[in-house]
Amino acid sequence: MACLYAACQQAGYTLDFVSSPEKDITLYSLNSITGPSLFPEIKSADAITIVGGPHACARWNELTSIADYVVVGEGEFTVPRLLQSIEKGLSPPPGVATDTIFQQMDHTILLDGNPSFGEYKGYIEISRGCPFGCTYCQTPRIFGRFIRHRSIESIVRHANSFHDIRFLSPNALAYGTDGIHPDTRHVRSLLRELAKLPDKDIFLGTFPGEIRPEFVSEEAVNLIARYCSNTKIHIGAQSGAESTLKKIRRGHTLSDVWNAIDHCIDAGFTPVIDIIVGFPDETDEELLDTVSFCREVSGIGYVHAHRFFSLPGTPLEGRGSRDLIPEVISALGSLALSGRLTGSWNNPEIRFFSKVPK
Ligand code: SF4
Repeated sequence: MACLYAACQQAGYTLDFVSSPEKDITLYSLNSITGPSLFPEIKSADAITIVGGPHACARWNELTSIADYVVVGEGEFTVPRLLQSIEKGLSPPPGVATDTIFQQMDHTILLDGNPSFGEYKGYIEISRGCPFGCTYCQTPRIFGRFIRHRSIESIVRHANSFHDIRFLSPNALAYGTDGIHPDTRHVRSLLRELAKLPDKDIFLGTFPGEIRPEFVSEEAVNLIARYCSNTKIHIGAQSGAESTLKKIRRGHTLSDVWNAIDHCIDAGFTPVIDIIVGFPDETDEELLDTVSFCREVSGIGYVHAHRFFSLPGTPLEGRGSRDLIPEVISALGSLALSGRLTGSWNNPEIRFFSKVPK
């Protein structure tokens, strides 16, 4: 939203925030959990409707019967171009589907060419795209497997807008790299430059830019300790069972996770470990391995648990979450009561709705 707002503003269009469709053009960003609840509103809107976002990217061919225009892919260049074509009565540009026409997008966004935010503030997006192919994740399917980075100069410019500097990235420690081979030189250069700004607190390795375990080295945590204000480091592990990590194609091992945790502890950080439970092919044994892992982690850090949710456009599309066995529900519940585990492992919709739709 923040980067689209800025891109539209640069092109001379100011977006307003509305709670229902307005008689002009109304844009919706749809995710797969909340999106379907908006379909009746979009379909009956007395306005030109444009939908985009992760759900629209994957299910664009279904959404052309619901909205006038579906933006498929990154929107910073496509949305202003579409607004211009609507104004001039022209055909929609590449990257937009309607019920009669669709051409694939014809460009890739360079982060430096587009601000992360304008008047409507957002996080500083330092990298986009991911070379990994975790089977449940939409990121590489929407943004591609080539990781792109914002320049240090641009990040510093964005950082001037905040006291607390937080980064958006699929893997914050991969900044400046090919996303596969850890190399802390680029993160070091970035942090050094940001540290020159007066009166700022830098947060690296926390939401919304958690990190992959194999990127957490002694050198990396020492850099975070030297330049940043966070006391916790958020690491994506996603499972405590080696065999599940292989099945979901995480591209790292359980020992990578434990090495990362050790490096965090050695440098005085509290590790916060993300896990997902209920993958479709997860066995009872694998679930119990993840529970033991969570118990062990909770002795030295925190666990953030999620329930698997099948996302369109991913290899696990259409596969429901498996049921959790009572031992898992009760163990995760006890850890939550102890204050060492947070998240929504029973129902993924709880994160998005104050009342879960039937
Ligand atoms: S979960 Fe993270 S590492 Fe895996 S594909 Fe998605 S962004 Fe990449």
